[in-house]
Amino acid sequence: MTDWPYLSAASGPGEVTNRTLRDHARQVVNHYDPAFVETFARATDHLKHIFRTAHDIVIPQGEVVLGMEAVAASLFSPGDRVLNLVSGIFGKWFETFIARAGAEPLEVAVPYDQAIDPEDVRRALRRHPDVGFLAVVHAETPSGTVNPVDDICRIASEAGVITIVDTALGLGSHPFEADAWGVDIAVAGPQKALGGVPGLCPIAVSPRAWEAMARRRPTPLRESYLSLLDWRESWVEKRAFPYTASVSLVYALESVAAQVLEVGLERHIARHTRVGRACRAAVRALGLAPWPARDEIACNAVTTVRTPEGLDAGALVARMRRPYGVKISGGYKELAGVTFRLGHMGVSAHPTHLAALLAVLERSLADLGRSVRLGAGVGAAMALLGEWE
Ligand SMILES: *Cc1c(COP(=O)(O)O)cnc(C)c1O
Repeated sequence: MTDWPYLSAASGPGEVTNRTLRDHARQVVNHYDPAFVETFARATDHLKHIFRTAHDIVIPQGEVVLGMEAVAASLFSPGDRVLNLVSGIFGKWFETFIARAGAEPLEVAVPYDQAIDPEDVRRALRRHPDVGFLAVVHAETPSGTVNPVDDICRIASEAGVITIVDTALGLGSHPFEADAWGVDIAVAGPQKALGGVPGLCPIAVSPRAWEAMARRRPTPLRESYLSLLDWRESWVEKRAFPYTASVSLVYALESVAAQVLEVGLERHIARHTRVGRACRAAVRALGLAPWPARDEIACNAVTTVRTPEGLDAGALVARMRRPYGVKISGGYKELAGVTFRLGHMGVSAHPTHLAALLAVLERSLADLGRSVRLGAGVGAAMALLGEWE
């Protein structure tokens, strides 16, 4: 049997706090127990602060992928045109959900080491005035890049287009302002930069988006695991559930959201910003290159590294895991082999965690025969992490 890792520094999920573990392990109750209903309500209240929204929060009881499928199935119908922004693998994946709902995807795409230019969005919306929806990924986890969703959603919202943002990785690691930016639907996950346990999918929904689901579709989607309207009619209107809630996962989510707010959302994000910058400096000090074309579009929670000539990324991932017990991620789908990923999200957005990750990265690169000066990466990172708080 394989030993468990000492350190999780993958592209998510990451490590969680002892408090999260304790709350997750609380006795299971029926989901209509008043204590549980209050816990669920607290979770949605905390999430409103984190999404920066006054609108409704619903929490389909499945992974973020379920959430994205639910958004597409609940919102789109044949005849709808959806502007899908593609700067990475998750953005491209959403096209499948658009098409499955019978809607027509139109695409603005950039190479996966780039970010979407808001002016391209403006032009595309001018060219296609019949577009009703726009979908964009905030932070693309495989590429380690971030899109300017503030400008993109403002432009779309002013054009009367309903905006959908996958902020699974972005929320908690980059500023995000659902209401101020005109985001109609924001989809997140507890297990990335919020530092929680996977398996739930908090979604913020604007009145305009509810209206589109209920009235714009010829036959609104109801009585389905993919129906967001079921959640409105049960949870939002009656404090009821469309099906049994994943009780223990809700304990963990409520706990994690409360902890983020106790640290302070801005400070939580600032920790990610600083650790992200330090990690990229370390990567460069080791003679490697971050995958994103420019630092301004680099994601704070994951550093995607371009695999250098002559290095086998899979061998590096394996070497760090065994014998050193550090779990990083290889590249995902099309980016397999050409990239590997260092995660520093949630609990791991911390100098101590980063130092251990980088030290083992250096040691493992040396083990694989690359010429690295041991300590160069750790030193470059630590030089940027003074006066940590
Ligand atoms: C993690 C993530 C998801 C969810 O995907 P899983 O692989 O099922 O965890 C969706 N979108 C983005 C941007 C993500 O980072």
